[in-house]
Amino acid sequence: MSTSYPNTQLLIGNDWVDAASGKTLDVLNPATGQVIGTVAHAGKADLDRALDAASQGFKAWRNTPAHERAATMRRAAALLRERADAIAALLTQEQGKPLAEARVEVAAGADIIEWFADEGRRVYGRIVPSRNLAAQALVIKEPVGPVAAFTPWNFPINQVVRKLGAALAAGCSFLVKAPEETPASPAALIKAFVDAGVPAGTVGLVFGDPAEISSYLIPHPVIRKITFTGSTPVGKQLAALAGQHMKRATMELGGHAPVIVAEDADVELAVKASGGAKFRNAGQVCISPTRFLVHNSIKQAFTEALVKHAESLTLGNGLDAGTTLGPLANARRLDAMAQVVLDARNKGAKVATGGERVGSSGNFFAPTVLADVPLDASVFNDEPFGPVAAVRGFDTLEDAIAEANRLPYGLSAYAFTRSIKNAHLLTHQVETGMLWINQPALPAPELPFGGVKDSGYGSEGGPEAVEAYLNTKTVSITAA
Ligand code: NAD
Repeated sequence: MSTSYPNTQLLIGNDWVDAASGKTLDVLNPATGQVIGTVAHAGKADLDRALDAASQGFKAWRNTPAHERAATMRRAAALLRERADAIAALLTQEQGKPLAEARVEVAAGADIIEWFADEGRRVYGRIVPSRNLAAQALVIKEPVGPVAAFTPWNFPINQVVRKLGAALAAGCSFLVKAPEETPASPAALIKAFVDAGVPAGTVGLVFGDPAEISSYLIPHPVIRKITFTGSTPVGKQLAALAGQHMKRATMELGGHAPVIVAEDADVELAVKASGGAKFRNAGQVCISPTRFLVHNSIKQAFTEALVKHAESLTLGNGLDAGTTLGPLANARRLDAMAQVVLDARNKGAKVATGGERVGSSGNFFAPTVLADVPLDASVFNDEPFGPVAAVRGFDTLEDAIAEANRLPYGLSAYAFTRSIKNAHLLTHQVETGMLWINQPALPAPELPFGGVKDSGYGSEGGPEAVEAYLNTKTVSITAA
């Protein structure tokens, strides 16, 4: 496995280029804290060129027949699969997750592209029986136009590919500001599309100052659609700006997933499924299980088993064989985790395991279980986005559902129960975009992925994801 790491450039009109100013930012390996490369920092002149390219790319791509677009996208997916090992190594070096998780992310990326490639062939309009027999009434679906996307560092490939797949399937061009902290793996994803033969400007890639880039691209007349994944506060700002300029927007924002473990749950299954999901990507996942609500009769057994699971993980450099939990992706998450634990402890929670940074180099934080966490602890209110599980008990399922719905978030939720009656109640009463019962989260390209309430709007899977990149046009033709 290669551990070389490239400097990342911008992609403008199918050319890989440095920023016009020559400015770059350093990229760090979170397992070592060492600088491993640089990424080009775009300024206004670069953005203007990228916008021109996106405009040209849109003309070419929308005029490419859907089945040819699908063939090109499938070639990109095949290239991604061929290059998967090398790309996974880049991803682990810049983001920290274990290599096995990085490989899954790349393979899932190819799967997502293939599914959207085929879905693009099924963007049907309809013919509506007309009230005037001399007229034909048509409903036509058209690509919305050039898209500006903003994606975060926790899944550098997955967060881009869900947006990219849907946008290209619909016939849009796609300009993404990918994460400055993890630039090489999304660049490798974009390169697969260039190498697969997309027309120049169909895809574009920039990096720089996130706020500067979003405040320039969102109002720009070339851009017709915004899509963002990240925190709720930033999402609200960007959605407001998109609204001011009447731009369509998809917002995939924060979550605070409840895990309801009912009295009749299979505790072993609940720990295996939710514990595995909790510590995947060191908890830096928008659908990470976070608030563990466990029936009081099984709370102790559940907490002990979750602690055992946490203590069985091997914390280390994601490139090392045997590592099952990597470092946090950036140093500011270490401070955030320390603060979350301190606040919970001060408010009366017990630290059942972990709770501290490990070592003095790299961003390693021990897998942590907090028990008997009071409702006013910050971990039960603000998205922790790290390897911290917070457990508290409940008496009735209705109480647990009320707690699940208490927060303004509504992205994902988990529940464990053997009763169909409970499953039915949970299905209808938990305010969430996604609910997994008796299983870990299993997002798939064909399933809608998105939240409600402060977790955002729009969907990044299923036919709904493509619809988000389409305009609807009604045409009525009367024979003259
Ligand atoms: P942050 O809120 O500063 O940034 C989150 C993401 O948004 C980053 O990728 C950043 O580059 C981008 N961003 C920030 N300001 C922006 C702007 N004005 N325009 C465009 N993009 C902008 O926080 P952070 O320290 O990077 O992460 C902290 C929190 O963000 C986490 O606690 C978590 O709640 C949230 N987050 C969520 C996801 C997700 O998958 N939904 C991913 C990453 C981070």
